[in-house]
Amino acid sequence: MLIALLPVAGVIFIVLIILAIIAALFGNEETFYRSYFVLPFDTNTYTITSPYGERTDPINNTTAFHSGIDVVPTSSNIVAVADGTVVISEVQESGGETVAIEHKVGGVMYRTFYHHLKENSRTVKVGDTVKQGQQVGIMGSTGRSTGDHLHFSLQKYNVKNQKFEYTDPSIIINNKVTSKEYSLFDYTDNKFSFPNNNDYMKDKLPTPDYKKPTITP
Ligand SMILES: [Zn+2]
Repeated sequence: MLIALLPVAGVIFIVLIILAIIAALFGNEETFYRSYFVLPFDTNTYTITSPYGERTDPINNTTAFHSGIDVVPTSSNIVAVADGTVVISEVQESGGETVAIEHKVGGVMYRTFYHHLKENSRTVKVGDTVKQGQQVGIMGSTGRSTGDHLHFSLQKYNVKNQKFEYTDPSIIINNKVTSKEYSLFDYTDNKFSFPNNNDYMKDKLPTPDYKKPTITP
């Protein structure tokens, strides 16, 4: 009887191993975003007005892929989510006043896009090196937009396809850590230190064993 069950146990074991590998892969990515990228504005209060993915287009009512998240923060200062180099700073027909920043984090290339910025509010140009939390513009409604909001997109470089591909930026937005809080991370103790023992952000912070990745702009 026991011998007959051995192949079943073997299959269950293999399935569990595969599930563990999947969990580890996705879990790490989530931890990575949570650990490294901060919110693209200087407040952690905001409203998401449209999520990433398939949606009904608010202008022509057709089903379309929404390549980013539409978000309205309570402060209109739009900032870089991580250190990087500006690769786009221009007025686009659809994206309006647009800034894009390239980040190299832990050997992986990312691009973040900040669309519909207020007219003439861009403070960076192509080739500029920016620091995490540095202002790049002011929230606006330029381009194909129905009201003041930030359309924030994230692209990750796919080495196999040799191109940047859109990926869900939710984790960055849901992270709820601004660069101001992030700067309180103590790399010596490897933990966050808040003034006056204020630990209100405790459950939203990166994992305790977090190590800041090496940045190569
Ligand atoms: Zn949008």
